[in-house]
Amino acid sequence: MDVARLQNYIDGEWVEAQTGEYSDVVNPARGELLARVPLSSSTDIDRAVKSCARAFAQWRNTPPSARARYLFRLKELMEDRFDELAEVQTREHGKTIDESRGETRRGIEQVEVATGVPTLMQGYNLEDIASGIDEHCFFQPIGVFSHIAPFNFPFMVPLWFIPYAIAAGNTFVVKPSPRVPLSQTRVIELFEQADFPPGVVNMVHGANEATNAILHHPEVAGVTFVGSTAVGRDIIYKTCGQTGKRVIAQCGAKNFIVLMEDCDLEKSMAGLMTSFFGNTGQRCLAGANLVVVGGDSFYKKAVDAFIEAAAAIRVGDGMDESVQMGPLQNAQSKERVLGYIEKGVKEGATLALDGRNLKIADPNLPQDCFLNPSVFVDLTPEMTLAREEIFGPVAGILRAANIDRAISMIHDNPYGNAAAIYTSSGQAAQRFRHDVKCGNIGINIGIPAPVAFFPFGGMKDSFFGTLHGQGKDAIRFFTEAKVVVERWF
Ligand code: NAD
Repeated sequence: MDVARLQNYIDGEWVEAQTGEYSDVVNPARGELLARVPLSSSTDIDRAVKSCARAFAQWRNTPPSARARYLFRLKELMEDRFDELAEVQTREHGKTIDESRGETRRGIEQVEVATGVPTLMQGYNLEDIASGIDEHCFFQPIGVFSHIAPFNFPFMVPLWFIPYAIAAGNTFVVKPSPRVPLSQTRVIELFEQADFPPGVVNMVHGANEATNAILHHPEVAGVTFVGSTAVGRDIIYKTCGQTGKRVIAQCGAKNFIVLMEDCDLEKSMAGLMTSFFGNTGQRCLAGANLVVVGGDSFYKKAVDAFIEAAAAIRVGDGMDESVQMGPLQNAQSKERVLGYIEKGVKEGATLALDGRNLKIADPNLPQDCFLNPSVFVDLTPEMTLAREEIFGPVAGILRAANIDRAISMIHDNPYGNAAAIYTSSGQAAQRFRHDVKCGNIGINIGIPAPVAFFPFGGMKDSFFGTLHGQGKDAIRFFTEAKVVVERWF
């Protein structure tokens, strides 16, 4: 069968990578080979960065309102291709088509917000800071930026950065995850159709060598990364410190959801299911530990309702509209999750719902990547399952005597990406919002994902850097403040 070999997009041209190494892109629900992706070399990165550096001179002098017009065109093209963009995500990632539609909408929202650059990028000034002297602060673009992307949101995550960076007058190299390179390839085709000048946005496919070349390239001013803590902290953040680059590193997570006895259990359940099992648990904002605060009868009621709802989730090919949860993104991810389930059993946690007993909507599909939801009960916070990021459809249920204990469990965990509370008490909600050290807090919301006008970042081992992606923070990250003190004789 003829399978497409993907190309890089450099200087307005689609070009072969300077490498003999390719890796397979496979639809995890059907096992079919979709494409081969090049694992590009440092030479490819160098060509892309040099193209960006050349384009920067003219792009930074293009008025912000003119730069925004390119983004308006891009947005329209994305709207026209909305369904197709969503289908590509489901085919290469496995998520349900409805989840892909949500991801597409969230990605397009980033482009919409970035079109506000003529306002977002404005500086400020003050007359007469001393007699006859005025002072101005301008925010200026810096140069070449890059994004190193994760596999779990192949369309949306790079758009947390690219539109803001280029709207602010910088140029950009994106390196998609080699596991899911097709969505960004489609996005870049739309950049080409929107007629952006060559070199403003380049795409280089690849893995470790490409990442390292970006981190060490002297003409790259800053790097944005989304992925695991091991890579984000120990490779990206550290190397950017050594090579003197700005950095945003959004990393791993282990998110707690606290269920108070005064919550509306029935109304909460749909949000809890989406939080724990949406995107097959492969979300940085996914619920991972459910902490039930209340008496014995509430604990039993909550556990029973949670397990009943999880067992009813329909698993299968995400292209089937009736399916509620797709496969893991690849067979290695499934193996990793199986390893955690076995470890949980070994450490003495009770596996009340075993997702290894497969129940797939279409039993003829290959089973390499599928799992049904699993639920462990009576977990204790020191167990591996309760501490480490599993990144799959496995929920752990813990118990806490009161909200203080629930918050201390959250704080004892090294991650700080998201936490949520389900309650009808304003006092508990306010306390939670104020005290919990996490970047994203949900109150009766299971996935507290900030919309594009708000910054997206975590705390502790979930985030390394200062400014965040999205909205005003992103514009600030992609610009440098310059102050002018002015007097005329
Ligand atoms: P990953 O760290 O394995 O890969 C991310 C990127 O880094 C990829 O482009 C990959 O090619 C590159 N990379 C991986 N290992 C490398 C190495 N040794 N040297 C150089 N480059 C390397 O992450 P992933 O599995 O693709 O994504 C899942 C992770 O991302 C989870 O931990 C999840 O929590 C996290 N995530 C975080 C957020 C957030 O906003 N905090 C959002 C989405 C995903």
